[in-house]
Amino acid sequence: MRIIKKGKVDKSRCVACGACVKACPIGAVTVWKGRHAVIDENLCIGCGKCENVCPAGSIEIVAREVRQSDAQTLV
Ligand code: SF4
Ligand code: SF4
Repeated sequence: MRIIKKGKVDKSRCVACGACVKACPIGAVTVWKGRHAVIDENLCIGCGKCENVCPAGSIEIVAREVRQSDAQTLV
């Protein structure tokens, strides 16, 4: 098993400001229909830049255990 990190959005707290979209170095975040941010987990590398800039505290970086074979395809 291996630990990987991914950003996770609390939609109920997100104010759709777009700061996380600008901060993400790989374009893994979009604001869905102007309502809330969505992170593409297949792209996210868990760097935490979106979490750092979010004024609403609605992004959390979560650690997950994955099988080694899955981690290789995700990272
Ligand atoms: S953790 Fe990093 S890579 Fe993932 S969505 Fe946030 S800024 Fe982008
Ligand atoms: S920075 Fe925070 S409040 Fe702004 S769109 Fe991203 S998740 Fe939502």
